[in-house]
Order: sequence, then C-alpha cells, then structure tokens
Amino acid sequence: MSSNIEIIRICEYCHNEFIAKTTVTKYCTHKCNSRAYKERIKSKKINRSNEETYNTKVQSIELIKVKEFLTVKDITLLINCSRQTIYKIINSGKLKSIDLKMKKIIVRRSYLDKLFKNE
Ligand SMILES: [Zn+2]
Repeated sequence: MSSNIEIIRICEYCHNEFIAKTTVTKYCTHKCNSRAYKERIKSKKINRSNEETYNTKVQSIELIKVKEFLTVKDITLLINCSRQTIYKIINSGKLKSIDLKMKKIIVRRSYLDKLFKNE
C-alpha cells in the first residue's frame, strides 16, 4: 500500500527525525533497520548465553548442597565469597577442615553450617 502522505517520525535506532511514508515505519534508513536487527539478534544471543551460565551455576550449587565434604571452591559458590576469605576463616580456626595432600582442603558440611549458627 503506497501513499503520498509524509509523516515526521523519529528513528528508533539513531533517534534522528525523518520523513516516513507510513505511520509504522520505525527506522530512517535501511542501514538503521539492519543495524537495529543485528543488535536484536546480538542481545538475544547474549541473553541466551547468560541464561545458560546462570543455569549451569544453579545446577552446580544444587550438587554442592547435597555433598558431605566440600572443597574450598564449593564453599566460595555456596556462601558467595573469595577463596582467600575461606582460607582466612580456616586459618583463624573458626572453620574446621581436613588438609589432604596436594594443597587440597576439604570441609565437612556440618562444620560450615556451624559457622553460621549463633550460640
Ligand atoms: Zn536512523
């Protein structure tokens, strides 16, 4: 459907004013149209990737929750803090741990829970 009407619109991509021939035209040029399209595709991809990352994180936290013995990395995920913080707590004696060979430290889940209980 073509018409001879001229409508002033604002491009949704570059925000410049332009003369449109229909009331539903969103972009001033084909360039803006395809750039906006590419951006939509890109942000969709980014969202999907972020979602995947989030789901993977949630899955690993669910696995950690049922573990009897936790590694330092497990604890960082569980209580959302750095490895250094965990080592500090362990070295302070507040958190009982088992020092395995090869610098691997594990912590019994119940000892970690005890850390957060008020006595
Ligand atoms: Zn534009």
